[in-house]
Amino acid sequence: MLTSTQTSQLSARIEADILQLQEDIVGLEAMTQPISPDNAIGRLSRMDAINTRSANQTALNAAKIRLAKLNQTLPRINNPEYGECDECLVAIPFARLMLVPESQYCVACSDKMAHL
Ligand SMILES: [Zn+2]
Repeated sequence: MLTSTQTSQLSARIEADILQLQEDIVGLEAMTQPISPDNAIGRLSRMDAINTRSANQTALNAAKIRLAKLNQTLPRINNPEYGECDECLVAIPFARLMLVPESQYCVACSDKMAHL
């Protein structure tokens, strides 16, 4: 269970991340508009534009998923079970929560799951 200082640090952190993600999403959405088959930009730069757009699309999807997770996490940080690993129930270090507030697992369990 977090102290009230930690909870307020964390909620400030999450709110800042949410604002940043919302800005990123607006920018990425603008950059992922369909590319018109305009011959004026030439074949190579059109390929470039398509590659860039696909990278931006990936970034946009990741930003949307993270935003949804953070929005779900924010109201949960006052729950006593927030900050405990869902798998082994160990307390997730506060430094990790500050980096990845939506963490549901401790580092050891995330590693195990990543290698399954
Ligand atoms: Zn764990």
